[in-house]
Amino acid sequence: MTALEVDTARLPLLLAELRLPAIGRMWPQLTERSDREGWPAARLLAALAELEVGERGRRRIERHLAEARLPPGKTLDSFEFGAVPMISKARLMALAAGDTWLEKGTNLLLFGPPGCGKTHCGAAIGHGLVENSYRVLFARTTDLVQKLQLARQALQLEAAIGKLDKFDLLILDDLSYVHKDHAETSVLFELISARYERRSMLITANQPFGDWNKVFPDPAMTIAAVDRLVHHSIIFEMNVESYRRRTAVQRSPASPTPSHSRNADSPARTKSRATTSSDNQKPLATDDHPRQ
Ligand code: ADP
Ligand code: MG
Repeated sequence: MTALEVDTARLPLLLAELRLPAIGRMWPQLTERSDREGWPAARLLAALAELEVGERGRRRIERHLAEARLPPGKTLDSFEFGAVPMISKARLMALAAGDTWLEKGTNLLLFGPPGCGKTHCGAAIGHGLVENSYRVLFARTTDLVQKLQLARQALQLEAAIGKLDKFDLLILDDLSYVHKDHAETSVLFELISARYERRSMLITANQPFGDWNKVFPDPAMTIAAVDRLVHHSIIFEMNVESYRRRTAVQRSPASPTPSHSRNADSPARTKSRATTSSDNQKPLATDDHPRQ
């Protein structure tokens, strides 16, 4: 080996050039420790490399968390499983780990009345997935439909849908708020078709399929969209009382039960259906609560 000119004074510069900021920050400390404890040189090198790789992974996850636009604070840790007995913590943890469902392009459909925790649950799964190195995008369905419509007007729909391919999971929150009268929503159908059997979607909706004729331009398109969504799907029916309302009642135990919580058609009085996992799942009848 030829003699190597080494000038340690240049080290900060060299590390910056190589884009190794963690080593750049930590080398004085680690080399000092290595000298003091008499580490073999290879051990020092390995420690520095581990440091950089670890920080790179953390930075990537931070970037992916920022791009996912998940609502803050809605994680599995802050989710109270007792409130939704039809969903087990183990099940959600398994979904948040990613595993095979994302590889197969399986969809996750969450139905239930307003306030039952669909958004929280969906966001928590998304959050867990990002931490497990998957890429996720959370969007209000109406916002995404609007963006795709603009893309279509600019003759860029295919490219816009293609860009969403980088996400292992696309969370479409509140699909049933999309209204075909407000906008031409076949872009939503295009998106569903493009991801079919390739890329997963997590959809939340107050109303199961029976009401989706309001969402898609015509009944044939509704059937075709539902067909594709449910073909490989896991469906959670979260027919429980609004978490907001329940906690509001719990916070004021001195006050009498508010009249709205005694509503005859309160979601709490409806039958809760067990979590279903399905392939070739038949569309479910509408049995939910259209009140917003
Ligand atoms: P939905 O999307 O079904 O309308 P959200 O997920 O927005 O309901 O829930 C309403 C509020 O109640 C949110 O602040 C959410 O964090 C909270 N919440 C709902 N369910 C739970 C739960 N099981 N544990 C903890 N917080 C919950
Ligand atoms: Mg919601």
